[in-house]
Amino acid sequence: MLALGQDEIAKYPFLADAGQYLKEQGFTLEQFGTDPDLAPLIEKAYNRIHAACEGDPQSYKSDIIENQVSNTAALPREVFSFLLSIVLLKLTGIPTLAKRFALSEAMRAESYLEKDLKNISNGSNELPIRIIEDLFSITIKKHDDFFVMPISDYIKHSVYFHEREWKLINRHVENGQVFLTPHQTVRLVRKELGTYITSKILTGKKPSMIPGFEKFVNNLLSYSKKFSVSVVSTGEYPPCIKHAIEVLEKGENLPHSGRFMLATFLLSKGQSVDQIAPLFKNAPDYNERVTIYQLNHLAGTSGSGTQYSCPSCEKLRTQSLCFAIPECDNIITPLQFGKRTK
Ligand code: SF4
Repeated sequence: MLALGQDEIAKYPFLADAGQYLKEQGFTLEQFGTDPDLAPLIEKAYNRIHAACEGDPQSYKSDIIENQVSNTAALPREVFSFLLSIVLLKLTGIPTLAKRFALSEAMRAESYLEKDLKNISNGSNELPIRIIEDLFSITIKKHDDFFVMPISDYIKHSVYFHEREWKLINRHVENGQVFLTPHQTVRLVRKELGTYITSKILTGKKPSMIPGFEKFVNNLLSYSKKFSVSVVSTGEYPPCIKHAIEVLEKGENLPHSGRFMLATFLLSKGQSVDQIAPLFKNAPDYNERVTIYQLNHLAGTSGSGTQYSCPSCEKLRTQSLCFAIPECDNIITPLQFGKRTK
């Protein structure tokens, strides 16, 4: 476990040992549910979850101002609200909420990590570097305004990025080390940071209800219905498409290439942007405005006016999106599935 200073534990509360922290502060979880002076902290935790799940983290009133906790009393409030959020999400047991919360918290931590990385000096081994090393097994070093990491680490962690700028060929490499800005360094680990926080929420068995927490858990259960995906008949869809829909239904992250495949397939099948958009509602990073914009772009109703085609089976195989079954025999695009076999 990393040793954390006061501000650091508020910025990176997922690094804290929750049980240990509560013990050191002299509290039990039950006290938060029953002590009227502590009850507002559950409300603060509820608001933190709600803001994260809405994709509007700024609406949560954090006690961290300009990278520092605003005052001594604010520190425990900030840490407690995170720890109580984890408890509420565990009690609620809805993976979609947990994943949306985790992604939002990962992005929050990412902004602190970036600022902290910018402030460290060459050759030092300060907390941001140790976080990246300990949590993600990446060896990084400060090099002037950049951070460098071994090519093997870079390849392992950039594998899910499909944008051109992340291809190794487009990176500055010297002596087997890849150069990244602080922003790129933390962006590289966002997904894994989200996965790390999600695992803190979803691992272990669901705890028993804590008196005083019921109202918030019930509110979250009602709220989670907003993210349920409308049922889509997948009977005639090929396995790659069924798999992509299942991933979204579970609230898991579908890579950009998978989203592209699913959207272009459904558009080619005659579904409208309005019919397709709700499918992505369950994705941890869902943003309605961006989704509609991207779907319109793929449909050719905005931008260049070109409608994009569903990728070929061969291309999907190279992207690890193909889950072929015997009925896929001899087809070259998912759009042919079911036609030849009839
Ligand atoms: S062979 Fe084609 S249609 Fe079948 S699962 Fe693979 S990509 Fe999809």
